[in-house]
Amino acid sequence: MFLDAVLNAFFPPVCPVCSQRIETAGALCPECFSKLQFLHDHEDGKASAVVYDDISKRLILALKYGDKTELAFLLARLMVNAGQDLLAGADLLTCVPIHWKRMLTRKYNQAALLATGVSKICAVPLNPCVLKRVKSTPKQGSREQRYQNVKNAFCFNPKYSVKGKTIVLIDDVVTTGATADACARLLLKNGAKEIRLLTFAKAIGKN
Ligand SMILES: [Zn+2]
Repeated sequence: MFLDAVLNAFFPPVCPVCSQRIETAGALCPECFSKLQFLHDHEDGKASAVVYDDISKRLILALKYGDKTELAFLLARLMVNAGQDLLAGADLLTCVPIHWKRMLTRKYNQAALLATGVSKICAVPLNPCVLKRVKSTPKQGSREQRYQNVKNAFCFNPKYSVKGKTIVLIDDVVTTGATADACARLLLKNGAKEIRLLTFAKAIGKN
């Protein structure tokens, strides 16, 4: 398209990892793409596309702080590939919410961007407002501290019903699983039938 050509001439797309020029926006350069460590075996009810490493970390940072919403679709495609089993038969997608104070500095909830992409690709409806984050929690700390921190960090939005639904919870990265666990408990408490977890990246060996 003409507009694309004009935009590309003035703002040539670059790889979000290494800043090398690339053909189309929202992609990775072939070298960086080949360095992604894809995950092939899943735990029960949980899937992630790649290992959380330097490359995937930079991709998530580009999503969080950059204006890289088109990148969300690439990551979402990789997530759909990884999570086909989980997405099959799911009634609803939702995502781990961020606190409104973080929205001010970040512009986007990166989990919601990923969930929007996944929903468009696999045609499972998305409701990003089922859960609300009522407490801003630090992401640092030991496994025990993190479980403590996220306890009561979320609340269920009573405007919506999740009764009897199989829900796929979406987040950018899973480390200890404390956050996902807190969200899953809340959804189950409010009548959801089953909660599955799909993330772009998974931290390996840090549990
Ligand atoms: Zn690159």
